[in-house]
Amino acid sequence: MGKIICVFNQKGGVGKTTTVVNLAAALGNLKKKVLVTDVDPQANATSGLGINKEELEHTIYELLISTEDSREFILETSSKNVGILPSTPDLAGLEVELVMLDTRETRLSKVLNYVKDDYDFILVDCPPSLGQLSINALVAADSVLIPIQCEYYALEGVSQLIATLELIKTGLNPSLEIEGVLLSMFDGRNNLALEVVEEVKKYFKDKVFKSIIPRNIRVAEAPSYGLSVIEYDEKSKGAQAYTKLAKEVVRNNKR
Ligand code: ATP
Ligand code: MG
Repeated sequence: MGKIICVFNQKGGVGKTTTVVNLAAALGNLKKKVLVTDVDPQANATSGLGINKEELEHTIYELLISTEDSREFILETSSKNVGILPSTPDLAGLEVELVMLDTRETRLSKVLNYVKDDYDFILVDCPPSLGQLSINALVAADSVLIPIQCEYYALEGVSQLIATLELIKTGLNPSLEIEGVLLSMFDGRNNLALEVVEEVKKYFKDKVFKSIIPRNIRVAEAPSYGLSVIEYDEKSKGAQAYTKLAKEVVRNNKR
């Protein structure tokens, strides 16, 4: 049965989407079957994996309303062994609609149940907010992967994040675990970045992934070609770091 990992941090621009796209591609490269589920109305994971969001026939929007079988909605991506349930900007409206529907928090869970057995890993890309879409992702997930950017305000908002996870655990999803905390956009030339790494390790202890993602221009360029950095430049530092992370995730899930 596939493991559902929700990539979440309510803080914007910390590397959630970049991690979903490139971890998915790196896992696919290791011959794992991966499904990316994009529940962010910005649809950056969708376009980053080579899908033209203007030309979509079906999207996760319809699925979350109908909670029907999701298999027909899955598209192939530019990365091998990686499929996607694509998002669209319309999904923003669903935040409001969901509030009025019953079973509003468990809709993504129902949708992913149809396909869970077909994949090794399902990675969910969340918007930078704590609305209904993120809650659906956290309720559907087995674990949460938290990217933290190596910059000055890194730990700002982390206590709110932890409080949110505790709330979800005491109510809607008691078995939710922390998959790991990922240090992203690390710049070794910057002393501050080193301090942030130490601070995050002090706070999260053994929950921090050993793999650290460096700031790397190839990682930033790849989405404009609709490619993961693994496909765009496999030899780049960014691709190597995400491959290392993928191996770590696989290892941690062998037990
Ligand atoms: P949002 O909260 O808006 O969804 P996010 O958390 O998904 O943002 P990303 O979109 O993944 O964050 O990253 C923010 C920006 O930083 C993007 O422009 C991305 O290309 C860039 N970026 C992320 N990781 C790296 C990296 N390792 N090296 C260089 N640039 C990066
Ligand atoms: Mg994003």
